Amino acid sequence: MKKKEEERSLERVSRAALEEQELRYHLVADAANDAIWDWDLVTNEIMWNEGLRTRFGYTSEEIISDASWWMERIHPEDSERVLEEVHECIEAGPDLWSGEYRFRRSDRSYAAVYDRGRVVRDATGKGVRMVGSMLDLTEKRMAEQELQLTRERLDFVLRSSGIGFWYCDLPFTTLEWDAQTKVHFHLPLNAEVTMDLFVSRLHPDDREATLEAVSKSVEEGVPYDVSYRTINPLDGSVKWIRAIGRKYEVPGGERFDGMTIDISEQKRAEEALKEIDRRKTEFLATLAHELRNPLAPLKTGVELIRRSSGGMERTVEMMERQLNHMVRLIDDLLDVSRISSGKITLRTEKVELRSVIDTAIDTSRSLLEGQKHTLTVSIPDTPIYVEGDQTRLSQILGNLLNNAAKYTPEGGSVTLKVEVDKGNVAISVIDSGIGIPRELQDHVFDMFTQVDKTLERAKGGLGIGLALVKRLVELHGGDISVQSEPGKGSTFKVVLPVVHQAAAVEEHNENTDVLSSPRKRVLIVDDNQDGAEALSMFVTLLGHDVRISHDGRDALDAAREFSPELVFLDIGLPGLDGFQVARAFRDDPKLQATYLVAVTGWGSADDKRKTREAGFDVHLTKPVDTEIVEQLLSEK
Ligand code: ADP
Repeated sequence: MKKKEEERSLERVSRAALEEQELRYHLVADAANDAIWDWDLVTNEIMWNEGLRTRFGYTSEEIISDASWWMERIHPEDSERVLEEVHECIEAGPDLWSGEYRFRRSDRSYAAVYDRGRVVRDATGKGVRMVGSMLDLTEKRMAEQELQLTRERLDFVLRSSGIGFWYCDLPFTTLEWDAQTKVHFHLPLNAEVTMDLFVSRLHPDDREATLEAVSKSVEEGVPYDVSYRTINPLDGSVKWIRAIGRKYEVPGGERFDGMTIDISEQKRAEEALKEIDRRKTEFLATLAHELRNPLAPLKTGVELIRRSSGGMERTVEMMERQLNHMVRLIDDLLDVSRISSGKITLRTEKVELRSVIDTAIDTSRSLLEGQKHTLTVSIPDTPIYVEGDQTRLSQILGNLLNNAAKYTPEGGSVTLKVEVDKGNVAISVIDSGIGIPRELQDHVFDMFTQVDKTLERAKGGLGIGLALVKRLVELHGGDISVQSEPGKGSTFKVVLPVVHQAAAVEEHNENTDVLSSPRKRVLIVDDNQDGAEALSMFVTLLGHDVRISHDGRDALDAAREFSPELVFLDIGLPGLDGFQVARAFRDDPKLQATYLVAVTGWGSADDKRKTREAGFDVHLTKPVDTEIVEQLLSEK
């Protein structure tokens, strides 16, 4: 009896211990985040812990202990594989199984799970129970996908940035370069990189400085930032590369890592800027020289005139030539600055080509004759009209004829040929001269280009003539091209649109209907006494009555007394300036009708607008062309 009681109490104790163990197991299992399962392979029931509910959203009522409940919730695409694996494990071992699959939550979404279990066998080895845990990997998988995406994006950015990466452990035992750095060194993607290969691909002139920068950075820990050229030994092509890097302390040693960037484009742009700068400096030197040249003969001329008593015709002609040359140089310079600032404007009208050509030939005659060239002009008999600026068109052809004369050895031939074809007129200036090397033919229209800088300077110019010509031709809606063979001469061809002829003739006739009266009263107002005197002499020579005045107020008084028909009026004047004088003229009923000519050193569009607003009829820029003065006096 006692024994039995003892047995019973023992049983009670061990049952209590068992219960407590069970309880502890459940507490642990429930506290775990995983879904812990216990599968009775005999009854085919699965007991789940609390994790199944908290992780996958099921209520106790929803969960059915039959194993089929679990199997049905495996994603259809994973189900066959998982069940086969588990079955295999139970039947044949090994006892441990693990796998990943998608498991359906209560809300019908799928979680990525990692599941693993162990088979418990009876004495015969038959699987009777399987215990395991199912871990929800969804968040981890999502984070991994996110990371992968970020990595791919970064890769894409790096690849398209053209930045290359290189990694070396120290002391340079292994070098690792990515594809882009290999491209920067003209290497195939599978090339094995070594320090020797690196050095051999550097431009010889850049090797020393680069290696010095490497050792300085490695030894002193300063940042590494160099630019060098890399050479392709196969075709000699060169890339400009900038390399940036530094030394890193890492566990177990040191590294020297960094990146490479292709800066060839940037270098090319820098070179181009340097070239322009060089040309400008050279141009300034030439300019100073060219401007100084005519001064010496002019000075001599003045001296000759002072000492002589008449018979100075040749001296005066020479001085005139030199002055014209200087005026032309300065005009070209002004045109260049107007072109650069986009301020050049055309005074377009319908122009007969023959008169343009005559003027151009006149300006080039002395040069052509001086060089003993023969000039042949071939032009159709019928008049050809173009829409354009008479002066600028003559300047274009005059420039081409001058060049033909300059760059053809004495006694050569120059031809000016005009052909009309389908609404266009082509004007070719052909010479038998030195020609232009092929590689420079594209550049002769660039600013400051001169093919042969050693040419005697008297012949050479500033290297801006053709740039101006091209720009002017384009402003006329035309085109210019060159064809040349060194030693055999050059052909410059200008193509311009022609104007319908009948319409042009009518207009032209209207334009020729000008007033003319032989003798006029002319007032010249200029505080520069020499300037006023010179213009007065010329106007008197043309047979007109002239008065001179040196300041604004005096000019108005003189005008009221003298009633001039035409006034040449300087703008910068003491007392009243030219604008104020012009307004006073326009406000005075007696003087209102006077023809007012502004004479100034300023010729921009803005200056012209100002003179027009002040009431001037015409704006002339100094130095005033005597031909224009003559024309004004005969027409107005
Ligand atoms: P430049 O003031 O030097 O004459 P241009 O702009 O008129 O300047 O011409 C540029 C360069 O083109 C000249 O310096 C000359 O070398 C070359 N060139 C121009 N016209 C001719 C030509 N008809 N024959 C040979 N070379 C020419």
